[in-house]
Amino acid sequence: MDHKEFRVKAKEMVDYIADYLENIRDRRVYPSVQPGYLHKRLPTEAPNLPEKWDDIFRDVEEHIMPGIVHWQSPHMHAYFPALTCYPSIMGEMLSSALNVLCFTWASSPAGTELETIAMNWLGKVLGLPDCFLNEKNDSSGGGVIQTTASEATLVSLLAARTRALMELSKLNPDLQSSELLGHLICYCSDQAHSSVEKAGLIGLVRMRYIESDANQSMRGDKLEEAILNDKSKGLVPFWVCATLGTTGSVAFDNVREIGQVCEKHSAWLHVDAAYAGSAFICPEYRHWLDGVELADSFAFNPSKWLMVNFDCTAMWVKDSTALHRTFNVNPIYLRHENSGKAIDYMVGSQKSNTRNKVVGIEINGVYTNGNAKLDNVVNGHHQLDENGYDKSSNLHGYDKISPGCGGNIQLENPEKNEPLHWQIPLSRRFRALKLWFVLRNYGVVGLQKHIRESVRLAQKFEALVLADQRFEIPQTRNLGMVAFRLKGDNALTERLLKRLNARGYIHAVPACFKSVYVIRFTVTSQRTTNQDIIDDWTEIKAVASEILIEMFG
Ligand code: PLP
Repeated sequence: MDHKEFRVKAKEMVDYIADYLENIRDRRVYPSVQPGYLHKRLPTEAPNLPEKWDDIFRDVEEHIMPGIVHWQSPHMHAYFPALTCYPSIMGEMLSSALNVLCFTWASSPAGTELETIAMNWLGKVLGLPDCFLNEKNDSSGGGVIQTTASEATLVSLLAARTRALMELSKLNPDLQSSELLGHLICYCSDQAHSSVEKAGLIGLVRMRYIESDANQSMRGDKLEEAILNDKSKGLVPFWVCATLGTTGSVAFDNVREIGQVCEKHSAWLHVDAAYAGSAFICPEYRHWLDGVELADSFAFNPSKWLMVNFDCTAMWVKDSTALHRTFNVNPIYLRHENSGKAIDYMVGSQKSNTRNKVVGIEINGVYTNGNAKLDNVVNGHHQLDENGYDKSSNLHGYDKISPGCGGNIQLENPEKNEPLHWQIPLSRRFRALKLWFVLRNYGVVGLQKHIRESVRLAQKFEALVLADQRFEIPQTRNLGMVAFRLKGDNALTERLLKRLNARGYIHAVPACFKSVYVIRFTVTSQRTTNQDIIDDWTEIKAVASEILIEMFG
């Protein structure tokens, strides 16, 4: 495909996308295909010769669309939202075309700097305390976009694990990390997402599940009881994950109580607000954030409810230097002359507080370690004393000399220039672009309106359910999700859900609270209207009537 064809075909694609989203109600939300359907339709080998774009694209509607779950449909009520919107799609388009890998600042300066700016904006919009922002030179806090909430949880657990192992090895210098690992233990509620358990499995640490209260909330007293009990057995509590907006019922752990316990026992507190985090852009929901200043890390998914395309998980940490020790590698091909001055989200340089001696200088590719050359490094931002120490500022492994001198200086202790990692993979997409587009094109007011409308529609659905004597809502509804069931045996609700999904007009998934089976009904689309909610409820009532007649006559 050349430029000319791309201009034509990509414009057709934009029309196809706009038609798709505009008319999404016409599509059956859940496909009726069976496993293996596509294998039967497509060849088993890749084409040897190039195919025409029109032939390829024709197969999308014919073979791909029949197997798509329409996540943007107003009748999609499963899981949590995974919304998109036009400015976000345009962000994805542009970032696809640029295809920059923003691991270091030098690999694409705008990619890194826009991410820092957008994450500071978003952190402020959520009302996060300043300690999580990267605005002041002396701040070690900051935000980074991860791929998923699962990854943010894992990164946080691994950083906390490293911190704990370092402390433990000071007390037990003869023991290896592998031996110390067996003493570590971490905690989450019995309502935490399965990704928390997975993080524990990958991190090779024990996980203790704290029984939640009647509101599905993890409380400080139960946590502390477990911690004290574990400590009495010689275990070392090092990490706690609190959830704001649990997957099953959108319940909220008590962050203040939990944070106080973590502080007392020197455990890292991570807050997983994957879904509910978006709601904190509205001040009326921020009471659930109370105590967040006690957390060490906080993450939520703008890719869920804030209409920023998947993938986009916003993660903030209070002490970003705590992350780097976990993934401590520093290959030469990732160093660049601005290391230490700029953020490198993948691998970069931490500002060292240790004074460092200049031992060499490189000018125009020629390296000298003679003191004579050091005389050159006396103006600009690096004033050296008679012993070669920087008088004015901290120096880093390789540091750019002021423009007048041109060149690099090398320090006595380049290891002080430690890599600062923010994530597991090296390469990273330019995700900040779509986040920035959405924040600007909607504005805070537009995003607040969107969140409030979802909650209003969930309240409307809740009222419809409560008005029907055959149904019940066992748990308090929070935000945009209603967990409801037919009164009586679980089998009734199980049957109802199975039939609803098979009919394909609406799609929902179940949850179970202490053996009570419910259907989770999440408002997932910004296109959902009052009429959609009424239509969904009409469908649910009709199917429920069918089932009740079949069961009880
Ligand atoms: N945490 C919570 C509370 C969730 O509800 C979910 C998914 O819905 C996750 C974590 C996992 O999110 P991700 O798919 O971004 O890893």
